[in-house]
Amino acid sequence: MSNRKPIYVTQPQMPPLEDFYPYLEQIWENRILTNGGPFHQQLEAALCDYLGVEYLSLFSNGTLALVTALQALRVTGEVITTPYSFVATAHSLLWNGIKPVFADVDPVTLNLDPQKIEAAITPQTTAIMPVHCYGHPCDVEAIQRIADNYNLKVIYDAAHAFGVRDAKGSILRHGDLSVLSFHATKVFNTFEGGAIICPDARTKQRIDHLKNFGFVDELTVVAPGINGKMSEINAAFGMLQLKGIDGAIARRKEIDARYRALLAGVDGIDCHAQALDAGANDSSNYSSNYSYFPILVGPDYPLSRDALYEKLKGEGVFARRYFYPLISDFPMYRGLPSARRDNLGAAATASSRVLCLPMYPELAQADIERIAGLIADQRRLPA
Ligand SMILES: *Cc1c(COP(=O)(O)O)cnc(C)c1O
Repeated sequence: MSNRKPIYVTQPQMPPLEDFYPYLEQIWENRILTNGGPFHQQLEAALCDYLGVEYLSLFSNGTLALVTALQALRVTGEVITTPYSFVATAHSLLWNGIKPVFADVDPVTLNLDPQKIEAAITPQTTAIMPVHCYGHPCDVEAIQRIADNYNLKVIYDAAHAFGVRDAKGSILRHGDLSVLSFHATKVFNTFEGGAIICPDARTKQRIDHLKNFGFVDELTVVAPGINGKMSEINAAFGMLQLKGIDGAIARRKEIDARYRALLAGVDGIDCHAQALDAGANDSSNYSSNYSYFPILVGPDYPLSRDALYEKLKGEGVFARRYFYPLISDFPMYRGLPSARRDNLGAAATASSRVLCLPMYPELAQADIERIAGLIADQRRLPA
């Protein structure tokens, strides 16, 4: 056991505390704490500008944004989604009384395989909820073709995809709606927070009503809405965080490149390909956010994935098995016919091999070298 400071899979990006005081003073002066206050309005505008999208509605977290996105489009029946994600993706369906139908992922991109989506469609299917896993864009064109052919809605869980762009602009412009998370562990955080990106003012207005109990005005309630509003403290913090986001992503890019170089020759370790290597149609203007650094531990590696996980833990390096178990293996899902292992082979294989290495802007160079060194040195077993 080492006596070094533990290294976790991520560490939230935070500006110096004193930089936040002026924002707090303004809130104390305004006495507006929530309900679409000045910082809320500023952050919606600033994020539209930064992300290159037209309409965005802030939420108190990404999960409530997912739940509300489904309500905004009146989605019912069955929704096709991925088992290889954080559990909130499927939970948002259960919260709406919708039946999740799991389809398998592509073994290279680890995003929903469009052919598997098409095969899972039934007369009850009303929508597709794909995830841009690790921030790598889904095959958005194939998914849209399927949606158009079968008259389905598409809601992207884009919790990992803050700032990701393809050749023509923000990845968040695809589908009917996209949902972001600003949780502490994400690339851009507001402590807790989230947002729905939508294509027109009318949809934004419906979403804004739904996140405020369904209120349209003082006396009118049009839907059984939830309280999903982002508070002024979180919105103010978001304004401050935006100032540092480009630097944070640039540093992530350096870390990504360093890990790739250090792990390139290690037998049995496969660094999950960047999307531009993984078949994106036009990679010329693709920009990643380097949100995670997943490796796949293959059969050629002398240790199992779990043994490597334990070995790193023994050295104070807390890598995480995102996404293991599969969502479809949790008790509230595993009875579904689509949760069967033989339906989800590629997802199950990835889930048994994946390990996300520490990735955050303040990760020290020496720690990157040490972590890669521990992985490259295959002889040492856990103490
Ligand atoms: C983080 C995350 C969420 C949930 O977001 P919260 O803001 O934590 O509620 C949903 N889906 C995915 C894929 C996530 O990673």
